[in-house]
Amino acid sequence: MQINNNHFVSLHFRLTDDSGELIESTFDGAEPMQYLHGRQQMPRGFEAAIESLATGDQLTFSLRPAEAYGLRSVEKKQRVPIKYLTHEGPLSAGKQVHINTKQGIKPGTIIKVGKFNADVDMSHPLAGKNLHFDVEVLAVRKASAEEIAHGHSHAEGNCGH
Ligand SMILES: [Zn+2]
Repeated sequence: MQINNNHFVSLHFRLTDDSGELIESTFDGAEPMQYLHGRQQMPRGFEAAIESLATGDQLTFSLRPAEAYGLRSVEKKQRVPIKYLTHEGPLSAGKQVHINTKQGIKPGTIIKVGKFNADVDMSHPLAGKNLHFDVEVLAVRKASAEEIAHGHSHAEGNCGH
């Protein structure tokens, strides 16, 4: 079966940046990544690159920021109370943090720390980067109507609704 909208795709991927530095890999024993294709769970360029691949196919491709996580922009700067930040170690400029928002936990990067608040760049940590992917498609299957409605897999029976 070829990857198309509303198919569950299970794949291994290796992601590196322009200097060849490894950002993330699910090869070498990690759980494969699974997502529902065509539902904006993955960057647009990623979905476009692997569309119509089938089980067992491998592909190497690169995405520019505009096709992936966008450009790093000052408009994503927000002032956040420090109590909403999750982080390890002391807070300082450049530190990666997680922010508890009404929409869930979002990643961000500290720009400036004050007494009670911090200025945080809410751009995705991969924003502004060219991304280089190696992928291997492990499985492709059609999602059920219920899975499409929920936007996630019920294969492991872990859905509470
Ligand atoms: Zn569900």
